[in-house]
Amino acid sequence: MRYLSTRDASKAVSAAQAIVSGLSPEGGLFVPESFPSIGLEEIQRLSTLPYQARAERILSAYLSDFTAEELHDCAAAAYEPARFGGAPAPLKAVGDLHVLELWHGPTHAFKDMALQMLPHLMVRSMEKTGLSRRVFILVATSGDTGKAALEGFCNVEGTQVGVFFPKDGVSPSQRLQMLTQEGSNMHVCAVEGNFDDAQTGVKRLFADADLAAEMEAKGYALSSANSINFGRLVPQIVYYFSAYADLLAEGRVRAGEPVNFCVPTGNFGNILAGYYAKRMGLPVGRLICASNRNNILFDFIQGGLYDTDRPFHKTSSPSMDILVSSNLERLLFELCGRKDQTVRQWMAALKSEGAYRVDEATLAALQADFSAGWADEARAAAAIGACFAEHGYTLDPHTAVAYAVAKAYRASTGDDTPLVVVSTASPYKFSRDVLAALRGPEAVDGLDEFACADALEAASGLPMPESLKCLREKPLLHRRECAPEGMRAVVEAWAG
Ligand SMILES: *Cc1c(COP(=O)(O)O)cnc(C)c1O
Repeated sequence: MRYLSTRDASKAVSAAQAIVSGLSPEGGLFVPESFPSIGLEEIQRLSTLPYQARAERILSAYLSDFTAEELHDCAAAAYEPARFGGAPAPLKAVGDLHVLELWHGPTHAFKDMALQMLPHLMVRSMEKTGLSRRVFILVATSGDTGKAALEGFCNVEGTQVGVFFPKDGVSPSQRLQMLTQEGSNMHVCAVEGNFDDAQTGVKRLFADADLAAEMEAKGYALSSANSINFGRLVPQIVYYFSAYADLLAEGRVRAGEPVNFCVPTGNFGNILAGYYAKRMGLPVGRLICASNRNNILFDFIQGGLYDTDRPFHKTSSPSMDILVSSNLERLLFELCGRKDQTVRQWMAALKSEGAYRVDEATLAALQADFSAGWADEARAAAAIGACFAEHGYTLDPHTAVAYAVAKAYRASTGDDTPLVVVSTASPYKFSRDVLAALRGPEAVDGLDEFACADALEAASGLPMPESLKCLREKPLLHRRECAPEGMRAVVEAWAG
């Protein structure tokens, strides 16, 4: 399997090259030249296998330059039960919905599903491409990616990780998780501005030829662990198959019966993996894209206009506070009939005018697979309260957005296809907001983050993850801050 750039489909690279580079030199994202297919019989067979084996099978369909043994080792190491406290992606029945919990990894957000795997793929990809230099991985994070990348790459030989997070755009737990990160190859910096400022800044660094030359002289190749890296997308496809396999194993669906997925969406990486799964033959009905008040994707899916000229809202679901969803570019490439020139024009318009409008055919293709909904702060909080009251199940604010959207989708369409809500974070990453939603805003008055977490444990009965509990004792190891213009100098300082 070869990989093409969304902005220049004439160039093809191997999976290992796509993983090492992250982004194509002209700014495009790597996509597979075709979608491998996984038939129903094989999906049924997967339902008898553990998650690691399911991962091995899906990865092998894409990463053809990796041996079966390599992929076996990668999957075994990434998803070892000790790191995930048991099954990596359990499916829970919550009323008439299914909730796919993707937050049992070391940082308690779904980013672990891919970022526990990526370092294993990256190290082997470096060997395969004959890269003798070390990689310097730059990450912009809206909160969860940063910690998950640090955790995944901690002390991995030949790698350095530099994380930029928006100074006022992450939750206290997320901030502490990053600032207390140990490891000899770990770097963290707070950037003034919001996530888009940090992400745009990192994209600028990747496009900076002088910086690349300077880093090369220091023995580093720059790479990314953001969801633009194909090595992150492919492990995410696995859990869509896994969820379906579990529904089959439990007799909740018949083989071939479609299932809808509702996904709390930010950078469009998670839901895009669901689309890839569908293209591979997984019986997926509708992919429901759930947004918070930053509902640019909702407007786009409704009307075909992607317009960033709108206020940016800080919400209780910060990992979805995004106006420029990078992975959408991969979907556009497929929907418009793989016309790299068309994608190039849209992305140029996005850069120069902050907006683009897709043609009728592309919009029709988009609406054939995707539905969209959004929930504001009040509806997300109400969903947390209602879900707990009705089912005794505690949602984090991101999953609450998807839960509210899923309920509204069912009510307004009457579509009773089995529906999986993709759950992306432990409620304890956002204890204050979850507690306030369960017990009212007065309940958090005067409490710090840790007191909120303790009170949430008492109120919900859900055990708090050990690694979040022990954050309170850890020393702060990273204190760097900068303006977006200063990011380059920070990277130079990190590289020594
Ligand atoms: C990253 C993240 C999202 C958004 O996922 P995308 O792949 O960027 O769409 C949603 N919820 C949580 C908790 C996240 O960490």
